[in-house]
Amino acid sequence: MEKIQMNTPLVEMDGDEMTRIIWQLIKDILIKPYVALKTEYYDLGLVHRNETDDQVTVDSAEATKKYGVAVKCATITPNAARVSEYDLKEMWKSPNGTIRAILDGTVFRTPILVKGIVPYIPSWTKPITIARHAYGDIYKNVEMQVPAGGKAELVYTDKDGNETRETIHEFKGSGVIQGVHNRDESISSFARACFNFALDMKQDIWFATKDTISKKYDHRFKDIFAEIFENEYKAKFEEAGIEYFYTLIDDAVARVIRSEGGYIWACKNYDGDVMSDMVATAYGSLAMMTSVLVSPDGVYEYEAAHGTVQRHYYKHLKGESTSTNSVATIFAWSGALRKRGELDGLSELVRYADALEKATIKTIEDGIMTGDLYLMSKLEKKEKVDTEGFLRAIDERLKVML
Ligand code: NAP
Ligand code: MG
Repeated sequence: MEKIQMNTPLVEMDGDEMTRIIWQLIKDILIKPYVALKTEYYDLGLVHRNETDDQVTVDSAEATKKYGVAVKCATITPNAARVSEYDLKEMWKSPNGTIRAILDGTVFRTPILVKGIVPYIPSWTKPITIARHAYGDIYKNVEMQVPAGGKAELVYTDKDGNETRETIHEFKGSGVIQGVHNRDESISSFARACFNFALDMKQDIWFATKDTISKKYDHRFKDIFAEIFENEYKAKFEEAGIEYFYTLIDDAVARVIRSEGGYIWACKNYDGDVMSDMVATAYGSLAMMTSVLVSPDGVYEYEAAHGTVQRHYYKHLKGESTSTNSVATIFAWSGALRKRGELDGLSELVRYADALEKATIKTIEDGIMTGDLYLMSKLEKKEKVDTEGFLRAIDERLKVML
């Protein structure tokens, strides 16, 4: 078979531990035999981040802006234990945080559904994608614990020094106060990323806040979404046959539980944090959850939602057999290759990405799976295989499909 050609390179961000092992295996077994893979390689493994004073992370994000599509392996976010384990010069920041800040993106997380693994909410027969706003609110708060007998005020000083004041509370007893903010620019970017992604996926998008109680703060989110939708997206949505739907967060939660899935749910920062954990758990596993960061100017970075699976890596280092689930990482690759194919008009590459995903799902539905899924699957005939055995089983099916 002739290998499928690429024009523009993908930005490849390598990572750490067990996912770094899987990364190499996926390329060797599932991609390189079929695709003349073109990537611009950045090693975001902790050793190299430390050697480059984390410059490599910044460079990889800049390259993503230049080329438009990246695929990222899970990476260690250092804590005190990692500083001594890797003898780090500094406790480097989370690479995902750094990349997100440079791309100004929104993260979309989607579960991968397979027969035999029934969500805890059995009516969810289609995936629910959570879009989480990644700036502000309580994640950039200012807090105080205050003693009895004082007054808390909200003060805004404009650029000429004029003050606007609102009393928050006159404290008879002791208490707590918190100040939060958001920026119109960030909310607008979030709205555009959501509407673009909905058009991309050809799925409805829901957005919900608590605007009945938060009449200025949450209402601002509602208004910005409505205005951008009216002015820039309404016609495109009509043409695509999809819908933008706003409701109160309480109503959204009730509708989500009763739904069959198949839409995107846009959430404010805190709601997205909590609801993405709920949705991931309900669908079964973080190892079956993909994640893509989309910037308002249409730059895409694909990754798995889980971490570096440290416990499995230490088993691997001791020479013991592992059974680590590579599905989310495979889908990060297929997502990135498909997007590259779409942008460059390479139908063969798009077809390959579709086949890779189908072969992966078929393998699990044929009863061949890693240990985590083996514990959950309701299939009668099932077999647990090791990390590499799973990839080989996918390749057998991929060969046939291609
Ligand atoms: P984790 O790597 O997601 O793993 C937590 C546990 O979940 C594993 O020990 C394993 O359970 C199970 N698991 C997760 N992914 C799996 C897979 N693909 N196949 C099978 N089982 C899987 O989270 P962590 O252990 O909390 O974090 C490890 C490192 O990852 C940390 O250094 C953290 O900073 C980093 N991290 C990176 C990202 C990212 O780059 N996006 C995200 C989160 C965490 P069992 O051990 O019970 O089998
Ligand atoms: Mg959370």
